[in-house]
Amino acid sequence: MSLHMGSTDQVRHEIVAVCQRFYQRGFIAGTEGNVSVRLAPDRVWITPSGCHKGMIRAEDLLLIDASGNVCLGQGRPSSETPMHLMLYRRRVDIQAVVHAHPPIATSLTVAGYELNTSLLPEAVVALGTVPTVPYQMPTTWEFGTVVSDAMQHAAAALLENHGAVAVGASLQDALNIMETVERAAQIFYLAHTLGRVQPLPPEALHALQALRPS
Ligand SMILES: [Zn+2]
Repeated sequence: MSLHMGSTDQVRHEIVAVCQRFYQRGFIAGTEGNVSVRLAPDRVWITPSGCHKGMIRAEDLLLIDASGNVCLGQGRPSSETPMHLMLYRRRVDIQAVVHAHPPIATSLTVAGYELNTSLLPEAVVALGTVPTVPYQMPTTWEFGTVVSDAMQHAAAALLENHGAVAVGASLQDALNIMETVERAAQIFYLAHTLGRVQPLPPEALHALQALRPS
């Protein structure tokens, strides 16, 4: 699947495709998760509240303004709308926000582990540092403020005892980041279970970090 920003119809179909991908990969269950794309400075397509994202249709999506008012569509926007809007306010460089509960990454936060992104080349280059946001009541503007504070320079964050958020210059970028977060968490978990976590040598790490976009 390759995602490109385009017409409104195309953007909605891309959001549906990402929701389905998250469901198929087990990153969400039931009505969990939310996805948005910034169409214009004051217009965001976002998934609705209370909807099973594995079965979502393009016509279920809502177009909202920068305050969260519905401009187009039926129903209520995602309960995590404040978090999406706070991220768009703070990050002019992003066009997409995805939130899911990938099981291994989420389990790390429940077990009190940070995500170590310096163990795998792909994670070093694609993710950089992934902060863990201390638990905060979801759905609130305070939650949105804390998450956006932590993600001023981050492509992803883990949400303690909750899940993960990824942002990107495109929806494809945000999806890639979320998948890479879960992969890094999975490999750490398996290595830890095997009994030894061997870091990359410092010189290898420095060479990879130099590849990160500034
Ligand atoms: Zn959540």
